[in-house]
Amino acid sequence: MHIWRKEIRIALIGFWVVAVVGLSTGYFWPFLLVFSWYLLLRQTLQINRFEKWLRDGAKGQHPKASGIWQEIYFHLYQQKKTDKRRKKKLRKLIEQFRLSTEALPDAAVVLNNSDEIEWANKAARQVLGLQQNDNGQRIPNLIRYPDFITYLKSGNYSQSVVIPSPLNHRVILEVRIIPYGGNLRLLLAQDVTQLKKMETMRKDFVANVSHELRTPLTVLKGYLETMQDLDDGNSPLLTTSFREMQSQTERMQHLVDDLLLLARLETQRKKPQCINVPSLLSQICKEGDVLESATRRIELTLESSAYIYGEEQDLRSAFSNLLSNALKYSPDDALVKVRWYQTSNELVLAVEDFGEGIAAVDIPRITERFYRVEHKRRKKVAGTGLGLAIVKHVLVRHDATLEVVSELGKGSCFRCHFPIRRLCTI
Ligand code: ADP
Repeated sequence: MHIWRKEIRIALIGFWVVAVVGLSTGYFWPFLLVFSWYLLLRQTLQINRFEKWLRDGAKGQHPKASGIWQEIYFHLYQQKKTDKRRKKKLRKLIEQFRLSTEALPDAAVVLNNSDEIEWANKAARQVLGLQQNDNGQRIPNLIRYPDFITYLKSGNYSQSVVIPSPLNHRVILEVRIIPYGGNLRLLLAQDVTQLKKMETMRKDFVANVSHELRTPLTVLKGYLETMQDLDDGNSPLLTTSFREMQSQTERMQHLVDDLLLLARLETQRKKPQCINVPSLLSQICKEGDVLESATRRIELTLESSAYIYGEEQDLRSAFSNLLSNALKYSPDDALVKVRWYQTSNELVLAVEDFGEGIAAVDIPRITERFYRVEHKRRKKVAGTGLGLAIVKHVLVRHDATLEVVSELGKGSCFRCHFPIRRLCTI
């Protein structure tokens, strides 16, 4: 404001001098014209210098100026100084970020929306075999595993994908993509070789132990049956002991069978076939009703005649487990409803009972291995705690999900949701 006042004052003084000299000599208008031209020329010159200085990148000392122009140069100089400081800070931050990502043990690669590499850290070169000059290359041309390419193309990055390292096939990598900042994606690859090794060891151990336990159990069971046949009933202690021993060996056999089934589900891949689900469900329900002998408790509703791609044996295990749970955890005379139906994008199997239900806190845990809900009121129901773990595994292998809706004291409904792409015809 102060500088503007000064400028106006100079102009007014100039005008006053022009007026005095002009009026005293009788050439007021020519003097005024010359004075106006002088002012205009002065400003044009300043603008010209200013534009030239800007065109040259506003580097170095600014041109000589006075009045308002000096003020303009001063403001620009201040602005430039702040920008310089901010740039320096940003450069330092970027350098720190670069150093920290270089030090990361996990491979990190930035991809653009054409799957081209924008940037990669040191670990990416060591683990994924990328070269410094690979920037700009498309990543599917460098990592050619079909699983990885499908994952990259899918656009659904909620899960990760496991692939061998392109440099060393014995190194297992877990690759995850994280979209960020509009069109960019960050690819992270972590060496999970040890973890996978341990997992395989655990699976092998469980499978081997379960397998080895089978024979001694069968022998034990056989001898027990013979001894029970020989029991003349004179000793009640002996009779109850035999009965208890038999029920415990049966329980152990179920455990071993379930563990073996789980081990198989985790390791083996069978060729899927087109399965007639309505017929499979009819068989399972008939078997369920036979077991329940006294009353017919199962109500099967086949609203769809759809077949699905899958593994029959595994689906049978999963559906049987759901049905036997519904029968086990509801009163002896309560109805169990089994429904097979189709929606616009899914095929659904619903098994509903009107039994004891499951508390909300237990629902997320019931598919864990060996998790059994302790129920104070009910008598002990036989089980291994592996049934729903098997169901979950089977469903995952069929790209399906399990939905559990339950209310304590009212009952439960277990729904298996199969994606419509599993639909097939023979
Ligand atoms: P289990 O051999 O004990 O039945 P599962 O894995 O099949 O093992 O089930 C885990 C637990 O979930 C069961 O112990 C039971 O408490 C609960 N559960 C499963 N299905 C039902 C159901 N239909 N109603 C009530 N509780 C259930």
